[in-house]
Amino acid sequence: MADGVLRAISSDGTIRAVIATTTNLVEEARERHNLSYTATAALGRALTGGALLAAMVAKQGQVILKFQGNGPLGRVWVDASPKGTVRGYVENPQVELPLNSLGNFDVAGAIGHTGYLQVTHDVGYGIPYTSTVELASGEVGEDINRYLVASAQTGSIVIVGTHLGPRGVEAAGGLIVQLLPDHSEETICQIENNVSTFGSFTFLMRRGMSLEAMLKRILNGFAVHALTDVQPLTFYCKCSSERFVEALKVLDKKDLLSMAEEEGQAEGRCHFCNAIYHVGRERLLDLAQG
Ligand SMILES: [Zn+2]
Repeated sequence: MADGVLRAISSDGTIRAVIATTTNLVEEARERHNLSYTATAALGRALTGGALLAAMVAKQGQVILKFQGNGPLGRVWVDASPKGTVRGYVENPQVELPLNSLGNFDVAGAIGHTGYLQVTHDVGYGIPYTSTVELASGEVGEDINRYLVASAQTGSIVIVGTHLGPRGVEAAGGLIVQLLPDHSEETICQIENNVSTFGSFTFLMRRGMSLEAMLKRILNGFAVHALTDVQPLTFYCKCSSERFVEALKVLDKKDLLSMAEEEGQAEGRCHFCNAIYHVGRERLLDLAQG
């Protein structure tokens, strides 16, 4: 199944939902960053959360999620746009932990149980809007839920999952359901009931369930209509060799010259996608001349 995201709203306007499959883009992140199983599970959930939030809250620009917990994975950073592009990295991609007591990858142990999640919405002009919440658990979905509750003051449900097999990511995806003003107590009860019987998102995916069918399952009992067709999602990084050269231009002439003479080149690695860029000696000497 190609990666995609679907947005929907209930016909009475009190529930909105966004649901996504992200298997391919999470697998691409795993390969690019050479992630451990635990790091794949953690970054996979965060990438999915970023794609969902960007589709839900942003019309343009970017939504940036920074998880900074006290666990060994270090910072987890995701950058997503409502155009369906997502990129991200973890600070320590090789960290591997034993499975937790439920037999799952220990994402919370890797990110850390304490720390914060910072969510920034940068529309591309003016001052970006940032809000920070303390981590709820380090499990990613619960942390994003805490952010949504704090920022929107309404209840929401966040499910994000990554299923890994021996050869990599077999299924990844998730959903956010958000209650809007004027929802009834019955709506809350029905959704809680739906969540309790929903099952595992990645299990349903592996059984071949479509986004539309999973949406119906989580919003069982409500009349819901999709706001758009399924929109494609991809791992995409905007870095380029031109941008690397631009970054070098801000260095002192002295530093450029010593790089040219001592290293014979400048090498840069993009955090987000792990691409490596080289600028040779001659070009460095040109840049040093201004
Ligand atoms: Zn990049």
